[in-house]
Amino acid sequence: VIILVSSVAVLSEVYGDLLRAAGATERLMELLATRSPVADPVQPLALPSAHGGSAVRFSAVNFHYPSRPSQPALVDFDLTLHPGETVALVGPSGAGKSTVLQLLLRFYDAQSGAITLDGVDVTQVSLDDLRGRVGIVPQDSTIFSANAMENIRYGRPEASDAEVVAAAKAAHAHDFLTALPEGYQTFLGERGVRLSGGQRQRISIARAMLKNPPLLLLDEATSALDAESERMVQAALEAAMKNRTTLVIAHRLATIQQADRIVVLDHGRIAEEGTHSELVQRGGLYAKLAAMQFNLAT
Ligand code: ADP
Ligand code: MG
Repeated sequence: VIILVSSVAVLSEVYGDLLRAAGATERLMELLATRSPVADPVQPLALPSAHGGSAVRFSAVNFHYPSRPSQPALVDFDLTLHPGETVALVGPSGAGKSTVLQLLLRFYDAQSGAITLDGVDVTQVSLDDLRGRVGIVPQDSTIFSANAMENIRYGRPEASDAEVVAAAKAAHAHDFLTALPEGYQTFLGERGVRLSGGQRQRISIARAMLKNPPLLLLDEATSALDAESERMVQAALEAAMKNRTTLVIAHRLATIQQADRIVVLDHGRIAEEGTHSELVQRGGLYAKLAAMQFNLAT
């Protein structure tokens, strides 16, 4: 009954990216730079502009992790995201969902097939350009030892205070932040004010909105939130997904129901694809997963 659990590995790697983008300290970067078998192309190509959201295409991608050559993680994987679309990835633990995000962010290169972002092969783009185009909301939001304003500004270090506040409002974080003892100047993190899970998630959504990328990658948290937090996080996510392309490893029924398309992964292959109601009707793997996760009578 364990479904849709994401690996810790992708999260730490994704944080590496977030921190890199945020100009994190050298020491932190060294800690995180422990494994990156990919390199920048010698003559990187420029990405075209992507105003209505990015286009993404996986074509016949085959991938196994370097440490496990006998175990394919993705098999003949094809996926197209049109600009502005929201696609939900679901599937049992180990199905390959996090791997899809890792390949797209180029933490690894596929052994065969191609991945393009806005028409350009990801291996032909500089890592900074590639990752600069992507906003990431990881499963477990990191709060840095800094005040609330700086915590959100990690999303775009040159942003003004007014821009940070606007992003916090859009992410439904403004009200709880202004209610803190020193508002946006309140020190957060281990030695500061501790936030609830739902509040941390909204900080992380605010960071992504501040960055305002054409492509958003979401790895939804599996942990249950109280109903109020759940509603606020959902509202924040909906705002974040507007006017951009979103690929979400989905655990929430509300997200799944709103997705333009659901892609069901199983053992590194696409098992099913469709909308929530189509897939429930079909009575396959998705219907089973949905029944377990959401207690749907199917
Ligand atoms: P999901 O996110 O759907 O739970 P993953 O993409 O994390 O699945 O994993 C797909 C497969 O790749 C699994 O068999 C998993 O054990 C394996 N895997 C994931 N990360 C690594 C890694 N860093 N090294 C080796 N194998 C991995
Ligand atoms: Mg995963």
